[in-house]
Amino acid sequence: MAEKGSMDRAKYDFKKAMQEIVDLRGRGTELISVYIPKTKMISDVMAYLRDEYSQSSNIKSKSTMKNVQGAIESIMARLKTYKTIPDNGLVLFCGEVPRAGDQTRMVQYVLEPPEAITAFLYRCDSQFFTDPLQTMLLDKKMYGLICIDRQESTIGILSGNRIVVSAHFESMVPRKHRQGGQSAQRFERLIEIAAHEFFKKTADKATEVFLDRIQDMVGLLIGGPGATKDFFVKEGYLHHELQKKVVDTFDTGYTDEYGLKELVENAKDAIQDIDLMREKKFIQRLFTEIRKQDGGLSAYGEDVVRDAVNMGAVEVLMLSENLNKRRVTTKCPNGHECQQTMKESPDRCQCPECGANAEIIRDEDLVDDFFELSEAFNTDVEIITEDSEEGEMLMTAFGGIAAILRYKV
Ligand code: ZN
Repeated sequence: MAEKGSMDRAKYDFKKAMQEIVDLRGRGTELISVYIPKTKMISDVMAYLRDEYSQSSNIKSKSTMKNVQGAIESIMARLKTYKTIPDNGLVLFCGEVPRAGDQTRMVQYVLEPPEAITAFLYRCDSQFFTDPLQTMLLDKKMYGLICIDRQESTIGILSGNRIVVSAHFESMVPRKHRQGGQSAQRFERLIEIAAHEFFKKTADKATEVFLDRIQDMVGLLIGGPGATKDFFVKEGYLHHELQKKVVDTFDTGYTDEYGLKELVENAKDAIQDIDLMREKKFIQRLFTEIRKQDGGLSAYGEDVVRDAVNMGAVEVLMLSENLNKRRVTTKCPNGHECQQTMKESPDRCQCPECGANAEIIRDEDLVDDFFELSEAFNTDVEIITEDSEEGEMLMTAFGGIAAILRYKV
């Protein structure tokens, strides 16, 4: 079975919509945001909105009042099409935003968020209220962190850019210098026993902290000043599931909270490589095919790839996250229905066949268009960021659209 893409269509659409919404500003305090959790009755929301509608008649500026009321009406009309609220809740943004000249246009976004909304919220402001949704875009992946030497150990979690300390231990292991009155050998043995106990204690705590979350854990990073960290990894103190996640050991000067920061800093390249490995793997496969004398099982360029997708010949479709293009379908009075790809949503369109003014009957994000084409053929669609050199090359050298084929076309 093909592995599922790292970013599916729902997540891509959500991310794109958020990018647009965040930048929108109203002329006045007239952009409305409504967050509705699953538990809320639609009839209650309607009653709330009716109340806001009547209160808005107190707004001094006539144009603001008109726009607020228009937005509330539009939201209510949209809500009427729902029988129940979806599992993760519903978020609606609606209002008039400026366009060229003195004009405004009404925008409306209805989002089903990727995570559940917990509280009902209504807000009217000069911009849309998106804070609760921003955190949903954050990566939930995390790394385990352990810093250790014979004196001290610290366990923590890295998620996003945040480091959280989970546990900190100081050992009872005496430093290795001669103690008067005791035989050196016996003293050495005691030290080793104490160290062993300390390593075990640290490893047990690591199991407690990490094992429940191992699904989300991308890797485990081990840091410390000397050889102890390598000894700790090599001697198998860690739970076998954690042992499998060890990325590498990294030198740090400290083993406390500051040591965890050093560890993340020093492991930066390794972390970035891992995060982008999946994306890089696909592009590298593409390059391998392209390098073959007959072009192998590669395809690139929008038209060529589109044809291959429509034939069901594409195994992996790679699309740059920042394609930012529209697929527009038009219909002219002479009956031509045509599709074209454009840089942005057009206000009006000419028929590519006969040049007559044509009606725009569909206007959607190019990536979404490809998602739809691919659905019927079990094609794996991969959204590729420009965070790696390979990802950048997909955008600059291949226009952001390429494919690995199942067979030559
Ligand atoms: Zn025409």
